[in-house]
Amino acid sequence: MRKQIAILGSTGSIGTKTLDVVRNHNEHFGVEVLTAFNNADLLINQAVEHKPNVVVIGNDEHYTKVFDALDPLDIKVYAGSKAIEQVLEMESIEQVVLGIGGFSGLAPLLSALRNKKRVALANKESLVVAGELVSKTALENSTPIIPVDSEHSAIFQCLMGEGNNPIDKIVLTASGGPFRGMSEKMLEQVKPSDALKHPVWKMGNKVTIDSATLMNKGLEAIEAHWLFNVSPSKIEVIIHPQAIIHSMVYFADGIVKAQLGTPDMFVPIQFALSYPDRLPNKLPPLDLLQLKQLDFEAPDIKNFRNLALAFEALEKGGNMPCILNAANEIAVQAFLTERIGFNQIPEVIEKSMQTSTFIQKPTLEDYIETDRETREKVEKSLKKSE
Ligand code: MG
Repeated sequence: MRKQIAILGSTGSIGTKTLDVVRNHNEHFGVEVLTAFNNADLLINQAVEHKPNVVVIGNDEHYTKVFDALDPLDIKVYAGSKAIEQVLEMESIEQVVLGIGGFSGLAPLLSALRNKKRVALANKESLVVAGELVSKTALENSTPIIPVDSEHSAIFQCLMGEGNNPIDKIVLTASGGPFRGMSEKMLEQVKPSDALKHPVWKMGNKVTIDSATLMNKGLEAIEAHWLFNVSPSKIEVIIHPQAIIHSMVYFADGIVKAQLGTPDMFVPIQFALSYPDRLPNKLPPLDLLQLKQLDFEAPDIKNFRNLALAFEALEKGGNMPCILNAANEIAVQAFLTERIGFNQIPEVIEKSMQTSTFIQKPTLEDYIETDRETREKVEKSLKKSE
């Protein structure tokens, strides 16, 4: 029996990797639904290859094009963001892979959980922005979230078989990104193209920049807080340039469990699909003798302030992580289009955190409003300074 999967955001970096996993394990996984927002051409190609029952194109301007291409193949085509949420009601879907980036992943995630579909979650922002609501919805519907992010997949695996043993500490490892060790002066000069050359992981543009600023690790700390119910003081970040240890868990007796492996997103995606089983793959096995050593160092939070800002937002709670996330998304876009420099990214975020409306107990509507308000304010202040 093949497990039927819905891949949300199938044309992005997680989506295309997920289809690689499916292609390698055709006997285990089938594609039931594919959704994309703008990339109609790739979506059509993917649908022709994987023959899902349903395809959704988020941007309805592309509807006719997708419909004309897929209707002869007997593939149903829908359009619009709402359709992405509604399609998750389909009985035939057994698991959802959420590869949509940014805040727009939140509504589909909630819909998947309400429809009791096990979710392989690659979208960080939904937990960062509305972690409390997401964990509550998962619990109410007794539906597990299997993390796809390599660090959280590692922690998830370290916790397998631990029952109710309390976590003493979580250590998130970070490769440190392409600018590790650079001074403030050097960082002033860096260009988006330098940041996009990540030393270890191949990922989408947004997360690659977040990884260069260390915001990625900050968002992951917030994610870990909600996924594993650990207080911020029990989450630590350590730079580990080889990215072989994907994260660690300390227990009460001083035992530390770590998960190691070749750094390729193929692995955590495959595990999220096959869990609790493990499947083989074609990646070269980890060769410790060739590696010889694993290095560790403390993160530089003076020059990479985003990490400290993320912990501040996590401690503060309420809608502060939502403010942090929205300001960061705009700041990263502004850096990518060379409207601001690398060192201005934390400045933009910090200013937003100081000036946006703080809400201690936000509702879903509050999150949506906070997200909108923050983006608008940041855009306005960027325009003013240009
Ligand atoms: Mg990660």
